Order: sequence, then structure tokens, then C-alpha cells
Amino acid sequence: MGTNSGSAKKLHEMAEEERRAFLEKKLGVNLENIKKSILNEKQADANIENLIGSAQLPMGIAGPVKVSGEHAKGEFYIPLATTEGALVASVSRGCSVISKSGGAEAVIIKNEQTRSILFKAKSVKEAKKFTEWAEENFEKLKKAGEEGERFLRIIGIDSYVVGLNVWLRIKADTSDAMGMNMVTIAGKKIADYVSKNYEIEFVSESGNMCVDKKPGAMNLIESRGKRVIASVSIPEEVIESVLKTTSDNLADMNYRKNLLGSAASGSLGYNAHFANIIAAMFIATGQDAAHVVDGSLGFTTVEKNEGGVNFSVTLSSLQVGTVGGGTGLKTQKEALSIMGVAGPGNPPGANSKKLAEITAAAVLAGEISLLGALCSKELSSSHQKLNR
Ligand code: NAP
Repeated sequence: MGTNSGSAKKLHEMAEEERRAFLEKKLGVNLENIKKSILNEKQADANIENLIGSAQLPMGIAGPVKVSGEHAKGEFYIPLATTEGALVASVSRGCSVISKSGGAEAVIIKNEQTRSILFKAKSVKEAKKFTEWAEENFEKLKKAGEEGERFLRIIGIDSYVVGLNVWLRIKADTSDAMGMNMVTIAGKKIADYVSKNYEIEFVSESGNMCVDKKPGAMNLIESRGKRVIASVSIPEEVIESVLKTTSDNLADMNYRKNLLGSAASGSLGYNAHFANIIAAMFIATGQDAAHVVDGSLGFTTVEKNEGGVNFSVTLSSLQVGTVGGGTGLKTQKEALSIMGVAGPGNPPGANSKKLAEITAAAVLAGEISLLGALCSKELSSSHQKLNR
């Protein structure tokens, strides 16, 4: 047994070395730094094929930021993996504004990972009849999808019809996992149940109505993964002392840039740079980086109140997990542990919800700092100083 696992490990290492040697010889390149990796194919087994090493990025720390959420309560440091100099400094400045203002509130409005499966009917009347059957048989479809799953709970199934095509958009709570594998597997089980019990052609395990890793109004409006809001009331003195601007300027900048500018350009993200913070946190913590597309959707609001502004971010489609995917890789797990959310939560689901609220607070910090820098005309000078 010991000899077998020893030789299996050797085979992995030999294969990795051979791939590098092949590329070095064929392309005349030197891969000595890609080789310097703490990962091997066994550790990253479910994450990669044809491993040749690691891509390393710098990881910085922002914060602490004070959060009063339903799941995240206390002060948190934010790990950010990025190559954009000035980003960590900017998020840190936003964190200090939030903490000086008493902390951010955070809430999760929806928690539904989605996968849409696609069918084709013989006529539009049959298409409509199928949607009625799916609604009447929801409990049976739910049972089929949840079969054998410990952590997946199907919350609903919405149907959409275009011509002869019917999509069933499955919505599920996937506990501490981001849940794309879980809900996709559930979708296939539901499709198999339909095929056995109803006469309709099954076309695809994914019909793009999910909407996975594509910019989509569906995700902005209906949400996907977690819909999270973080908000803080910032007093005028904090706006003036830290951001060097006024509440009037902040509210006006948000209206003209984030709302008008985004509407005029047909953007789906009515915000300044959600994607920056989402990408850096996702890479640091082992989330699926392609979900930056979904994670950059959402709204920033700045509303005047007595003595300052209420500043909020609404992230419509945040895809985060603390188990599964890349969250178990060594550096990513350590980054999750900085926020106290590595691994499964107690009760199950608590860690991914806590991470979602901390992520929203970090995005809030990023929005506050960037809008402040635009108001005080300091964006390019801070990048010249820190990013050149
Ligand atoms: P996963 O690793 O496939 O599943 C999570 C696993 O963790 C399950 O096996 C689950 O249950 C176990 N688990 C243990 N404790 C848990 C807890 N408290 N809550 C939830 N699960 C718990 O992860 P996933 O999030 O579903 O999928 C993520 C991966 O999907 C990423 O690698 C991503 O890149 C990829 N992805 C896939 C698709 C697709 O179409 N399939 C699309 C986009 C992304 P058991 O222990 O009971 O098995």
C-alpha cells in the first residue's frame, strides 16, 4: 500500500517535470519560476489537468473593517491578491472610513445558486403545457434533484418559454459551497426524471438562462448565488477628514458617474469598480475567478441623510463558497482563515454567508474610497505614486 502511493506520487511529479521539460525544449523557454510551486497534481487534483507549476500573485491585506452583519460580526482583515498597485491602499482607506463611521451593516437578501436546463417541445401549446406540468410536479422534481445530496436544497424552479424552447431555471441553497457543481448535478437528475416521466426532448444540461459566467440582466434583476447589501452612514466630518470632500460632492459624483454614466453606456454594473475587489478576493480565497462577471453586477447608492450620507452597495450575484472548488488549496485556505471562514460552517452554510457579508463590506470600502478619490481629483496621482 505504502509503496503504491509512493510510486503514484512519483508518477505525478515525473509527469509534471516532463511537461515542463517538453515545453522548455520545444519553445526554448525557461520555466524555473513556474516550477517553484507548493502544489502538486495530488493536492490540486480536482482543480487542474496537465499541471506544470503555479502562477504566483502578490497578496496584500486591507482593513480591519468593522462589520455588523447577520453572520459576520466584528472586525475583519481582507486578503486581496492583485497586481494593481493602489488597490489595497484604496480598500484600506475605505475600511477606515467605514470603521470610523461605526461599521457597515450587511444583509443577504437572496441565496439561490442556479442552473437552467433546456427542453424542446413539438409545439408552443406543448411548451406551455410542459411548464404547467413542471409547476404541478415541483415536489417530485425537487426530490429527484436532491437525491443523495447532503447539502443541496432546491428552493424553486422557474420556467421560461421562447418559441418551442423551455428552460427550467433551478434555484438551490448549496450551504457552504458556491454550488455550481452541486446544482449542475441536480439539474441533470431533474432532466433524467423529466425524460422518464414526460414526453419532451431534453436539449442541454445548461441553457444559458442560469446565467453562468456571462453578463446578464437576469442576474442583476433576479439574482444568482447571493444577493448581498452592505451599507454605512458616513458623518460629514469623516468624509471631510479622510476623503477630503463633502457629502454633496459624493452624492453628486455617484449620481453622475455610477448611475447616469452606467445608464448612458448600457452597463449592467451601476458601480465604480466592484470587479476590482471581487477579483482580488476571489483569487486570494480560491473562488472561481470567472465569476467576477457575475460578481461585478450591482448598484452603488449614495443618499444624503442628516449629518452626512448613507452609502450602500448591492451585489446582485455573488458566487462564494468556503468548501469545494479552489477553497481547499493551501494558500487560499489560509486566506479564508484570516476572515475566520475556512471550511464548513457551524451550522452548515454559516461560513459562506459570513464570507458574503465580509465581501460586500470590502466592496463597499472600495466604492467609498474610489468615489472619494474622484471627488478630490486624486485618482491619477495616487496611481502615479503607487502603481508605477
Ligand atoms: P464541489 O466541491 O463540487 O461540492 C462541494 C462538496 O463539499 C460536496 O461534495 C459537499 O457535499 C461537500 N461539503 C462538505 N461540507 C459542506 C457544506 N457545509 N456545505 C456544502 N458542501 C459541503 O463544489 P461546488 O461549489 O458545487 O462547485 C464548485 C466548483 O464548480 C468550482 O471548482 C467551479 O470552478 C466549478 N464550476 C462548475 C460548473 C459546472 O457546470 N459544473 C460551472 C461553474 C463552475 P458531500 O460531502 O455530501 O458530497
